[in-house]
Amino acid sequence: MKPVLPKLNFALCRDLERRLGTDDLIEWLETEAERVASLGRKHGGPIAFSTALLRDRNISLIGAKPYLPALQTISPTENGYEIRYTPFQRVEDRRFGVAHEIAHTFWFGPGAGGNPLSPLQRAIGDDPTIEWLCNRAAAAILLPRSDLTPITEEVPLVLHKISNLAKLYVVPERLVARRIFHDLAGKDVDLLAVRRRGDKGKVAWFASAPSRGQVMKKLENRTVPSELLPTPDMEKTCEVKIDGRWCLLADSASGFNRAKPLKRSPQIQPTSAWVFRNEDTWYVALPRQNRQSSG
Ligand SMILES: [Zn+2]
Repeated sequence: MKPVLPKLNFALCRDLERRLGTDDLIEWLETEAERVASLGRKHGGPIAFSTALLRDRNISLIGAKPYLPALQTISPTENGYEIRYTPFQRVEDRRFGVAHEIAHTFWFGPGAGGNPLSPLQRAIGDDPTIEWLCNRAAAAILLPRSDLTPITEEVPLVLHKISNLAKLYVVPERLVARRIFHDLAGKDVDLLAVRRRGDKGKVAWFASAPSRGQVMKKLENRTVPSELLPTPDMEKTCEVKIDGRWCLLADSASGFNRAKPLKRSPQIQPTSAWVFRNEDTWYVALPRQNRQSSG
C-alpha cells in the first residue's frame, strides 16, 4: 500500500493485506468494489443494492429503523448480516451510509458472526482505520473506478462535471469531488462548493485536501462575502486568480481557534485556483502547494 494515506494503522493494513493475499490493500479494495458494483449495475443508472449484490455480501436485509445508535448499522443474524438505517436522510446520504456498511463485510472473517478479519482491529468501538477503509470502499462501490477513469485524466478541469455525476449516481456531490480528485487523481487540493444566498455565498460542502489529515471544524454554512466570489462568465472549469482569503477559509477547518468572519480579514494576495460557476453554485479546487498561509 502506498504511503499516501492519513493516520492509518499500518500494522493493521499489512495484516489485512497478508490475510487477503495482496500487497496493495487499496488496489485490492478498488478491484473488489468494482466487482461488487458490477452486481448492482442497471442500464447506466446508479449502482443498485441488488439481490445479487446483497447475496454476494451475505446480507439478507436492508431496512429503515428509527432510534438507531448510529445513522446506519450492520449486525449479524443467524446466517448472514442485516443493515439498518435511520429514516429521513437524504437518499444520496443514505446510499453512502448503506454502502459503508456493505464495505464492513470486506473486513469480517469467514462465515457469519461479524468477527474481525484481523486481530489487530480494535475490539471495542469503531476502529478508525477500518472506518476509513469502509468510507473509501463505499465510494469505490458507488462510483466505480473504471467509470471515472476518462474523467480522472482531465483533472483538474472537471469541476463542472461534479453536479451531473452526483445526480447520475445518486451520491453526494462531495463524494464525487473526493473520489475524482483525491482517491483517483491523487491531487492535494481542498475542494469547496459555495451556494449563492442573495449577494453572498454559503459553503455547501468542503472536502479537505488529504495532506490536512484530521479536520477540526466544519466549514458548512460559513458565509463567503460577495467580494470573494469570482464573477467571470464560465461554461467550463477555468484556472483563475481568486481572493487569497479562500485559503484562510480552507485553513480555518484545520485550526482550533474560532474562525474570524472573512469580511473582517485583511486582504491577502490572490491565489491560483480552479473554478466552475453555474447560476447558483461555485465549485472551487484550491491546491495546497504554493500557499502563503497554511496549517
Ligand atoms: Zn463503519
